[in-house]
Amino acid sequence: MDALKALEKRKKDLEESLETLKEAAKPVDLNEPIGRLSRMDAIQQQQMALNNRKQLELNLELVDQALKRLEDGEYGYCLKCEDEINSKRLLARPEAPFCTSCQS
Ligand SMILES: [Zn+2]
Repeated sequence: MDALKALEKRKKDLEESLETLKEAAKPVDLNEPIGRLSRMDAIQQQQMALNNRKQLELNLELVDQALKRLEDGEYGYCLKCEDEINSKRLLARPEAPFCTSCQS
């Protein structure tokens, strides 16, 4: 697949997920009756949503950086060892800045 298309799609997906999460990450209103869910659960869920959100924002950042590298003609090469990044890996994570061995 076209790298630019893959990155743009990835960006759109991430932005949509982020939008959904914003809703879930709203502060828990401790005065509001929350029915079946205990307060602890609500707080835990909010924490999870916040963590997911951080992860998504990080990925978005990586996508933007990858788009920039694409512009500069440096896309697809590992930032550490400068080897070509495996195309299967790029298919799964088009924003990946490192090859599989440098990532781990
Ligand atoms: Zn590498």
